[in-house]
Amino acid sequence: MFQGIWIDKEDGQYTAGVRGIDPQQLPDGDVTVRVACSTLNYKDALAITGKSPVVRQFPMVPGIDFAGVVETSSHPDYKPGDSVVLNGWGVGEKHWGGLAQLARVQGDWLVPLQPPFTLRQAMGIGTAGYTAMLCVMALERHGVTPSSGPVVVTGAAGGVGSVAVAVLAKLGYEVSAVTGRADQADYLKGLGARHILDRAALGAPGKPLAREQWAGAVDVVGGHTLANVCAAMRYRGTVAACGLASGMDFPATVAPFILRGVTLAGIDSVMAPRAERIEAWQRLARDLDPALLDALTQEVGLADVLRLAPEMLDGKVRGRVVVAVRA
Ligand code: NDP
Repeated sequence: MFQGIWIDKEDGQYTAGVRGIDPQQLPDGDVTVRVACSTLNYKDALAITGKSPVVRQFPMVPGIDFAGVVETSSHPDYKPGDSVVLNGWGVGEKHWGGLAQLARVQGDWLVPLQPPFTLRQAMGIGTAGYTAMLCVMALERHGVTPSSGPVVVTGAAGGVGSVAVAVLAKLGYEVSAVTGRADQADYLKGLGARHILDRAALGAPGKPLAREQWAGAVDVVGGHTLANVCAAMRYRGTVAACGLASGMDFPATVAPFILRGVTLAGIDSVMAPRAERIEAWQRLARDLDPALLDALTQEVGLADVLRLAPEMLDGKVRGRVVVAVRA
């Protein structure tokens, strides 16, 4: 038996807990991985609490990320002993995921662990950090450079936000960090943020166009925040939108797009092509300071995840959470 988080729904009753699982029950796949670490992402918190219909079949082992060592493989690219990382592909939603000591997946979903990261550091990054890098790459693809002007990151003290701030600052951008937690100002400045903005300034209905402030933006919040960020972009600026921490809606006008040539770049990490994933991991190895990664990461055990999931949805978890599933 191996330990894992088990989500079930019977007679309308949604349950999540840690329990022993029979390896015979593992789903189909050509690679079995002994998981060393997983993480808690926003989507995992939604799955564990049942607050949103993330889980598409029951029972489910959640965990959209894992890092571990291949135990058995019939995939040509992987052999026992290889260190691998998984992000997304519906794992933890419709295929059993990483918040367990064993996982079985399609080898095509895996990427090799990117040196010099350890398995733990890879999960310190996790889907949140890899998504932050996809956002940075999208800004670059649309021509945003440090000389274009300042950039803004919303939900800055969360997982995606923390990594985005750290990477953008290391690349030389003047970063404004938007947060609802004034007490995290020193933390965000430690990651490289130059300015701290109160989330309230962007969270209420705003004008179609506002003073031009930013050349680039990473938004994890959606809603009025995303609309106000778009309205305050400089001419031909780009917003990378990846999240919905305040909700799914987007109460904006087309004014920033048709009058200022602003680009709204959508970011999806789940089905991103393999080449882009590998590029993102290589860029993280180059552009994320490992000391800052350690500073923005806390490590917990499997059982702690059940306590932290609702806290994450309340916006109370700072930075990234690594789950040491073997602890
Ligand atoms: P976290 O919970 O770690 O961070 C979210 C942050 O958003 C919070 O820390 C808080 O930051 C801010 N926030 C929370 N609630 C609100 C609110 N009501 N209004 C304004 N700000 C709020 O989550 P992650 O960083 O892991 O994920 C962020 C978002 O990105 C989620 O919606 C997630 O689903 C999405 N995501 C999307 C991916 C994709 O592929 N598109 C991949 C990964 C994540 P602060 O305290 O600083 O204000």
